[in-house]
Amino acid sequence: MLIEFKNEPFTNFRLPENKQAFEEALAKVESELGREYDLIIGGERIKTEKKIRSINPSNKQQVVGIVSQADQALAERAIQTAAQTFESWKAVPGDARARYLYKAAAILRRRKHEFSAWLVKEAGKSWAEADADTAEAIDFMEYYGRQMDKLSQRQPLPRIPGEDNELYYIPLGVGVVIPPWNFPLAIMVGMTTAALVSGNTVVLKPASTTPVIAAKFMEILEDAGVPKGVVNFLPGSGGEVGDFLVEHPLTRFISFTGSRDVGLRINELAAKHRPGQKWMKRLIAEMGGKDSIIVDSDADLELAAQTIVTSAFGFSGQKCSACSRAIVHQDVYDQVLSRVVELTKALTVGDVVRNDFYTGPVIDEKAYNKILEYIEIGKTEGKLMAGGEKGPDNGYYIMPTVFADVAPDARIMQEEIFGPVVAFCEAKDFDHALEIANNTEYGLTGSVISRNRAHLEKARTEFHVGNLYFNRKCTGALVGVHPFGGFNMSGTDSKAGGPDYLLLFTQAKLVSEVL
Ligand code: NAP
Repeated sequence: MLIEFKNEPFTNFRLPENKQAFEEALAKVESELGREYDLIIGGERIKTEKKIRSINPSNKQQVVGIVSQADQALAERAIQTAAQTFESWKAVPGDARARYLYKAAAILRRRKHEFSAWLVKEAGKSWAEADADTAEAIDFMEYYGRQMDKLSQRQPLPRIPGEDNELYYIPLGVGVVIPPWNFPLAIMVGMTTAALVSGNTVVLKPASTTPVIAAKFMEILEDAGVPKGVVNFLPGSGGEVGDFLVEHPLTRFISFTGSRDVGLRINELAAKHRPGQKWMKRLIAEMGGKDSIIVDSDADLELAAQTIVTSAFGFSGQKCSACSRAIVHQDVYDQVLSRVVELTKALTVGDVVRNDFYTGPVIDEKAYNKILEYIEIGKTEGKLMAGGEKGPDNGYYIMPTVFADVAPDARIMQEEIFGPVVAFCEAKDFDHALEIANNTEYGLTGSVISRNRAHLEKARTEFHVGNLYFNRKCTGALVGVHPFGGFNMSGTDSKAGGPDYLLLFTQAKLVSEVL
């Protein structure tokens, strides 16, 4: 009998043995930097001329790995392989498919620090952020395995005399999985394993900035014995192979997590019927956010300031759930702002290979330039209170930045910056704060810091986000505990890590037999 799902604990790096184990993992990864990784189609490793060089954002000179890049011919081969493999994989019972996930989770747990060390190097995650990313990946596999077990059992239906009726959740077919770079392990693993445990086959196109961690995960799937062709590893540029995969008539569904613009493009392309296509494609799309923390007049102000700083600057604000808008009641605005500025100025930024830096770099040059542009826009839209400048120039470092007195409709209050920038906006009263919080096209996460029960109840119904938190940060959703997904332009609200998620990867078939 399976033990009940429990979240993987986070590592306490204050314990000397854990610190030492992590340093050893970093040394192991350091010794493996710069290696080459191949495409994997139907279990066959394929090298291509065109390569992606994955760079350590903390240290631009360091090559993390060199990864072969697919072209459209290889994308075609991957789709065809996935389609052929689907014929056998769909017949494997759900509980047997779940066992591959439990096995893969056990292997990842044994290699936990090593994977987290790769996240430090490839994504610029601090030790704690990397550890949480790996823990979440383990959680997704443990959780989705159990969900598949449940879906494979006989579903309760009302009985009528003389008939035997059964409802089965059957897989869809070939899925194209397109994850982002910001949770390059957790989200990539969650999306991929949800698809495969539901009986689908997968073409996995990792984000181009973090392909090595995905290649490492392919090793785990192979070690766990997942049959060849169930997951086909197809690194390549989103622009070059992305459209091709999405438009392919054999693609049955697309599972995408990334920006609003790419999500909308995929939505449009997926909706168009192609010759030879026998279905309407399904799209599971989780997109951007512009997340707010509301601080009420009676709030615990220290909690409010700590919550804003943690939610805004953890992993340099590169979380879809990160706080980028602090909406503060006018009675406490100055106090909260000055405490946030004080806490922000104390944050340390540098190469996260050392555990004494709070946060590291942003992911790449494109992100770096975009965030710096937004900081310039911010200087015209608000008052710069902290940061607003580059960090050390050996990596893509940007100092945590706070702008005050920003109007609700300003660009830095409306557009996703995806970096360490938070804008403060003053609210006349709680209703005004809610109105401002709901004034973007996104609807992913939000927090309310308040002691006022009536206000919390009002926010419960009126604050229109997929994940709403009271008196805590708006980041850090736990698998199973906080199913995750957003409204409006934040996507299809798939609620990853929740009890309904696998339904998105299946279709239900009813069989009715007269007895
Ligand atoms: P992105 O630029 O949209 O890229 C996401 C993925 O889409 C990457 O694998 C990318 O490949 C691929 N892609 C790009 N163009 C494509 C195309 N034309 N067709 C198919 N695929 C294409 O987003 P990102 O910068 O990686 O991630 C940050 C964004 O993700 C933010 O907006 C953040 O809010 C969002 N996010 C949302 C959630 C959520 O749960 N709602 C979670 C995490 C992140 P390349 O890397 O090769 O371009």
